[in-house]
Amino acid sequence: MAVQSKRRVGILGATGTVGQRLIHMLRNHPYFEVTALAASDRSEGKRFADVCNWKLPVEMPEAVKGIKVFGCKPPLDCDVVISSLPSDIAAEAEAAFAAAGFPVISNSSSYRMPEDVPLVVPEINPDHLDVIPAQKKNRGYDRGYLVTNPNCTTIGLVMALAPLQQAFGLEAVMMTSMQAISGAGYPGVASMDIVDNVMPFIGGEEEKVEVEPQKILGKLTGSKIVSAPFKVSAQCNRVPVQDGHLESVRVKLSKQATVEQVVEALSNFTGLPQELKLPTAPARPVIVRFEKDRPQPRLDRDAENGMATVVGRISKDTIFDFKFTLISHNTIRGAAGAALLNAELLVAKGLL
Ligand code: NAP
Repeated sequence: MAVQSKRRVGILGATGTVGQRLIHMLRNHPYFEVTALAASDRSEGKRFADVCNWKLPVEMPEAVKGIKVFGCKPPLDCDVVISSLPSDIAAEAEAAFAAAGFPVISNSSSYRMPEDVPLVVPEINPDHLDVIPAQKKNRGYDRGYLVTNPNCTTIGLVMALAPLQQAFGLEAVMMTSMQAISGAGYPGVASMDIVDNVMPFIGGEEEKVEVEPQKILGKLTGSKIVSAPFKVSAQCNRVPVQDGHLESVRVKLSKQATVEQVVEALSNFTGLPQELKLPTAPARPVIVRFEKDRPQPRLDRDAENGMATVVGRISKDTIFDFKFTLISHNTIRGAAGAALLNAELLVAKGLL
């Protein structure tokens, strides 16, 4: 795709776990350049390199080191804002940026569920972006708008559910997660709580995973998004793994299927980002593995640069119809990569 000039990106929550991933993924990006960084009062007014506790095992890009960090208030010197703020802070900050004329692409949960805000996974529901004009009208936005991506546990799940819904229909879903420590941001869970241990509670997580898939797999009807009717039951656990959320899933389908048909539906899944060859799109969004002990966090989270969902152990279930295990990289496909792919889709659709 020909892109005339690079869009200038501002990152809210730039010093955090997701913000750092975004900065890394945006280095040498063909559509975007980072021109503004924002974080809390703690960081405001200082050079990014002096306040960011950089935790990625790659060097901080030179281009951002000297950027002065601003507070999370408009205006910022950019054309579009990508937000990875804690949700309580995001609610006010993101609305303020949208009202001030900035397209806001958000990782936070604050605006995922309103029916006039698209919750987008570009392979699944790019058409939900068509709700933006109604959103602008409802909220009195002029050039600004809000686009969100799902929770880091929802995204792996919904990447596997979408091909099954398309091929067979979905009746019910049960999911038990084993979620990485990096999902809690930095410094996250205390080491005394997570080493040699499993925490069987992640605040708010089950509630999000029980509603977000239905919205993503729902339909844009007139000026609102109507969720699909199937039910999701989720149990979420924090485990001592650095990155990558593993999920054990059981599904009840509307139509009968064989294991081979399920494998085929998952393996052949593809969407608009692949068709458009968006820079961050994985060539294979869902990868099926057949070894009896895969997927595993260490071996599979980085598939397709962390943008693929890897599914394995697909078999018939004795209570539901099928069961399988999946893994998705929580800070890449579950956060920074999800937002970046949404931003690339917005460029491709002429909305940025
Ligand atoms: P994090 O590591 O704790 O980073 C939080 C960021 O927000 C930092 O840049 C911090 O700036 C900034 N911040 C905190 N309080 C602020 C305030 N009062 N005003 C302005 N900025 C403030 O968190 P994270 O893991 O990156 O998560 C960020 C968001 O993404 C959350 O909503 C989270 O739920 C969501 N998310 C995270 C993941 C994941 O895997 N980690 C996945 C999906 C979605 P300072 O450094 O200046 O304090």
